[in-house]
Amino acid sequence: MYFKNIVGKEEIKRNLVKTVKSSRIPHAQIFLGKEGTGGLAMALAFSSYIMCENKSENDSCGLCNQCIKSHKFIHPDIHFSFPVVKFGEKKREITTSDDFLPKWREILFKNPYMNTSEWLDHIGAENSLPNINVKECNDIIHKLNMMSYESENKVLVLWLPEYLGTEGNRLLKLIEEPTENTYIILVSENQDQILQTILSRCQLVKLPSFENEEISRFLEEQMSIPYDKANQISNQADGNINLAINIGKNEVNDYSELLIEWLRAAFRSDPIQINKWIAEVSNLNKDEQKNFFEYGLEFEE
Ligand SMILES: [Zn+2]
Repeated sequence: MYFKNIVGKEEIKRNLVKTVKSSRIPHAQIFLGKEGTGGLAMALAFSSYIMCENKSENDSCGLCNQCIKSHKFIHPDIHFSFPVVKFGEKKREITTSDDFLPKWREILFKNPYMNTSEWLDHIGAENSLPNINVKECNDIIHKLNMMSYESENKVLVLWLPEYLGTEGNRLLKLIEEPTENTYIILVSENQDQILQTILSRCQLVKLPSFENEEISRFLEEQMSIPYDKANQISNQADGNINLAINIGKNEVNDYSELLIEWLRAAFRSDPIQINKWIAEVSNLNKDEQKNFFEYGLEFEE
């Protein structure tokens, strides 16, 4: 992830870059912003920038040995933690983020602005309650205390510290006295749900909602959505880039035909047409089905 992939937020990027250049990266930071404000994307771009061996004035190079790994989210010194549920047959107590890393990378490639429920859908969590458990906290402590592998720096990106519960207190020492060249970035959507003890020990970086104009630009440049449509979507999205992406996807896949066919078949109570329609929808993958229903809901409005 590059900084340049994130539209706008120039001041935040500038400040983050400055901390790297002046070797004053805070040991523990919270990137705070509600859903769709790009906290995780910013943390990814920032970790790549920290690791890059050939940084430009304002972004990672994307080409050096460190970037090749960090941009694929496989850098051994960039650790990820995030809320999970039980993994397959494994007991929940011994399941950690590491078990879900392939799924995690998959979703980051697809949409680093995703929300919690999209993540839980992606790992098939269904109705289980996700969290960040004791073993995860102990693993984090262990990982950050070990020597780094390839870079002189180590970074932990912990997405949604809201899910730590009181286990988070285990991380206090680490946050207070981190080992050298170790940087902790917590990415949170809700300040009220973070342990006060953690909150008070981290530097806060607040991410505002995206401007409509920024979202339009993103839709045009990165999703090839035409100008007028992009403006219309950005108005609907109300500063939430994840919502804009989801609406945008529906625009790319034009679901209007499918919706009309459905209404027509239902109106006529024509069993052959209805069965044909069902067969067509069951051929869509789960995401497409979800997008279709979201499209249908919007249509009603
Ligand atoms: Zn690089």
